Amino acid sequence: MNFQSLELNSQLQDALARAAYTQPTPIQAQAIPAVLSGRDVLAAAQTGTGKTAAFTLPILERLSRRQDRATRARVLILAPTRELAAQIGASIETYGASLPHRAVVIFGGVSAHAQIKNLRKRHDIIVATPGRLLDLAGSGDLSLADIDTLVLDEADRMLDMGFIHDIKRVLKLLPPQRQNLMFSATFSPEIRQLAQRIVNDPVEIDV
Ligand code: AMP
Repeated sequence: MNFQSLELNSQLQDALARAAYTQPTPIQAQAIPAVLSGRDVLAAAQTGTGKTAAFTLPILERLSRRQDRATRARVLILAPTRELAAQIGASIETYGASLPHRAVVIFGGVSAHAQIKNLRKRHDIIVATPGRLLDLAGSGDLSLADIDTLVLDEADRMLDMGFIHDIKRVLKLLPPQRQNLMFSATFSPEIRQLAQRIVNDPVEIDV
């Protein structure tokens, strides 16, 4: 399988060529068509498998197929750490360099000032750690009212770090009609339980 056989637009194909990716990794080969089809996805994938591109590429593709441009975010990507959130934001910048869609990255431990400034500009995607996201939602600096795509990345680490209550609070702020993608390195009973709350009839991927 090569990237040309996946239904990604020419701007994304060019970005992949610039990144010198010759073929999709196994998780990308399975997840990209599933996400493009609109299905929910539950994927077991370790860091280093190419999981970030497995969700960012089809999310950018789906955004680019929409005729309407939102002023508020349509896509929410939750990550356990600021490092991972920043890395996902950087991937979106790289793959989407020739597309108009923008991501705002939000995490705690630093001043919220610059993040709030970025939220006032047009953006399509929010990449966030749960605590700061809830703070900024609570202060009215961001709205989750238009979110129709949710990604939970490294869900097992989020549970290990004690984010379960924050995740449940975030879920309550999201519109119920959504496409949900959940990635986890391991599948404990706790992860399965969380998955039951989040994904609907998912395509299950294990690489
Ligand atoms: P991740 O698992 O998302 O952290 O990605 C691990 C690394 O693999 C990152 O440095 C990516 O840039 C790289 N990568 C992702 N997809 C591909 C691919 N299809 N071919 C080559 N490298 C890739």
